[in-house]
Amino acid sequence: MSGNPALVMRLVASAYTVAEKAGAIVRKVLHSGELGIVEKTGANDLQTLADRLAQQSICASLSRRFPKITIIGEEDLPAEEIQEDLIENGQVEDILQKSCPEEFRALKEEELVVWVDPLDGTKEYTEGLLDNVTVLIGIAYGGRAIAGVINQPFYNYQLGAGAALGRTMWGIVGLGAFGFQLQEVPGDRRIVTTTRSHSNKVVTDCVNAMEPHEVIRVGGAGNKIIQLVEGKASAYVFASPGCKKWDTCAPEAILYAVGGKLTDMYGNAYRYDAAVKHMNSAGVLATLRNHEYYVSRVPQSVLQALKSD
Ligand code: AMP
Ligand code: MG
Ligand code: MG
Repeated sequence: MSGNPALVMRLVASAYTVAEKAGAIVRKVLHSGELGIVEKTGANDLQTLADRLAQQSICASLSRRFPKITIIGEEDLPAEEIQEDLIENGQVEDILQKSCPEEFRALKEEELVVWVDPLDGTKEYTEGLLDNVTVLIGIAYGGRAIAGVINQPFYNYQLGAGAALGRTMWGIVGLGAFGFQLQEVPGDRRIVTTTRSHSNKVVTDCVNAMEPHEVIRVGGAGNKIIQLVEGKASAYVFASPGCKKWDTCAPEAILYAVGGKLTDMYGNAYRYDAAVKHMNSAGVLATLRNHEYYVSRVPQSVLQALKSD
């Protein structure tokens, strides 16, 4: 599209390069060997220097270009001058050239909320499970996740030196999702992906109630959504509070853009308005197909253990 691209296209075109820069920061901190780990609420809730620098980079870069957009980042950081070398100004021309879905053409900055998880899968990052790590930038309008960018900084790291490291996926509801090959799990196999570091009895009871043929336990909300859209898993099942809006906004938008769904364990959608509670208290259930089956299998005892929003 020539002329003046719609705000949401400009925002995604910027968020793409901003997420790439954040991914580069995440790699650089790892290679420095100085992770600067801080426990937030406990040993399974960590923050590293990479989380802090990536969030500063993402939030400062986007708010300079889009000053009236509400941007909410996971990390609670002191307000301070941001180093100029953390600022990313690029835009992806290919995204600017695409046609904005009709319903989003007239959006204004004041109407958008951006949810930022600068490093999803921090626990795994500190343990060297590097492909579990993602950078998540989600865009919400009218309380709904409408667009998202996911950078996977260590994609291909198992291939060793020489392989191009990292990739970026993005999507807009009504337009589609890009940067990966959409695939479904073959046949009717139920492959359930769930947490590896935040499990408990309710979480495992719920996974078992899905009658899975296979269970995969990996870190990161972004990573598990990638498994869904690449045909590695059929459902992401996490019957516990713990995931927050910045974990689910970008993944939900990308999943939705390819026909999938992300809800709480009751099958209800989450909202992403600026004033919403951060915690996804009633769990996360995400699928590419057959969402209703998985909702129908959630046991009453699990629902009773969770609070609907
Ligand atoms: P996981 O699947 O355990 O990697 O969790 C996905 C996302 O939700 C990550 O960002 C986790 O940090 C977050 N999360 C899930 N459960 C908890 C919890 N009990 N405490 C803190 N963060 C959590
Ligand atoms: Mg996270
Ligand atoms: Mg995080």
